[in-house]
Amino acid sequence: MGSSTAYQVAKRGQKTLLLEQFDFLHHRGSSHGESRTIRATYSKDYYFPMVIESYKLWEEAESQIGYKVYFKAEHLEMGDSRDKNMRGIIHTCHKYSVAHEILDRQQVANKFSGRFDIPENWIAVFTEYGGVIKPTKAVSMFQALAFQKGAVLRDCMEVKDIRKDNGVKGGVWVYTSNGEKFWGKKCVVTVGAWTKKLVKTVSRVELPIQSLETTVCYWRIKEGNEEKYAIGGDFPTFGCQGEPHIFGTPSLEYPGLMKVMVHGGYPCDEDKRPWGPVMVLESLKEWVEERLSGMVDSRAPVATQLCMYSMTPDEDFVIDFLGGEFGKDVVMGGGFSGHGFKMGPVVGRILADLVLTGEAKGVELKHFRIRRFEENPQGNVKDF
Ligand SMILES: Cc1cc2nc3c(=O)[nH]c(=O)nc-3n(C[C@H](O)[C@H](O)[C@H](O)COP(=O)(O)OP(=O)(O)OC[C@H]3O[C@@H](n4cnc5c(N)ncnc54)[C@H](O)[C@@H]3O)c2cc1C
Repeated sequence: MGSSTAYQVAKRGQKTLLLEQFDFLHHRGSSHGESRTIRATYSKDYYFPMVIESYKLWEEAESQIGYKVYFKAEHLEMGDSRDKNMRGIIHTCHKYSVAHEILDRQQVANKFSGRFDIPENWIAVFTEYGGVIKPTKAVSMFQALAFQKGAVLRDCMEVKDIRKDNGVKGGVWVYTSNGEKFWGKKCVVTVGAWTKKLVKTVSRVELPIQSLETTVCYWRIKEGNEEKYAIGGDFPTFGCQGEPHIFGTPSLEYPGLMKVMVHGGYPCDEDKRPWGPVMVLESLKEWVEERLSGMVDSRAPVATQLCMYSMTPDEDFVIDFLGGEFGKDVVMGGGFSGHGFKMGPVVGRILADLVLTGEAKGVELKHFRIRRFEENPQGNVKDF
């Protein structure tokens, strides 16, 4: 989110500095690795226009840099026909006139030539809006584009505090733990799993954002079936609503392996990571065995990778002014709750708008305000 914002701000001709606490492209946050799904199947309909804008901005950024970070696929969302989120997804499709197919068990089996097998009482929603984004490559792309537009990029720079300048200069001072300080008219804070800690230090506001350690799992496609599940054919990105909430991508990054993982993870302290155990639920193995028609080896994943989620209680993002003494000078974007990557470009656009103009068009920010936690501390969990 920070790299995308830096690009957006620098593109508008503003002097921009991007600070990162670790090495650039490190593996200790949320945005490293090989694949993220982009899909429009949101039951909370206000995400739909954001996804559509993101598709456009991903394409625009790719054309600027000259290489691909997005790989096209269609998308299939499945679940119990009575599931609230499934019904919400269908509502979103209707509201925005999105071309979609609602499929029953037999229709899913026919459409995907037996590669998915859903129970009788389930349905699936199929749309053209799917695909895979390569996260590390995409972050690097935004950094390169920001640099091209004149931004200064500094890594191994941990921000330890942000203070308002109370003198005639105005603006904000940013202090780093190695003793440097930087001044800017405005500041955008996008510190992922460290949001709760930094925001508390800076403004005393305690945000209910929980760090989770989550596990990416890659499963071996059984011999002879590899092509059937590869990207570039007709196998879609997919999600499965319910408990556990599962999602996956066609094989792309590791030929012959497919990513299928659970949405969520173990609560942890982002500075004292347990680095395991990897989360491979029995129910995930069963899902791989049954839903992928026995064509993928479900005994255990053959490769795993750990990653961080920063979860809000309602799984909605936090995009807002920090307020207090900072007024509109400090904007934050955090709590992306395991579904933010696809939105990187639009979030960057929104954060840049907010910090430069004080408002952002085309987005219902009320869902992302800090204030909502005071009004409804628990949120309506598990509803996106
Ligand atoms: C395994 C996994 C699968 C996912 N799958 C999907 C998916 O399929 N689709 C999707 O849309 N989303 C997905 N997500 C969610 C998505 O990846 C995240 O929402 C997104 O990457 C969050 O980005 P971020 O910029 O908030 O956090 P980060 O990428 O972690 O960036 C925050 C950065 O701030 C730095 N930082 C922290 N504190 C400081 C400080 N004090 N000073 C300086 N720098 C600091 C950190 O080091 C870090 O580099 C997934 C996430 C994970 C972990």
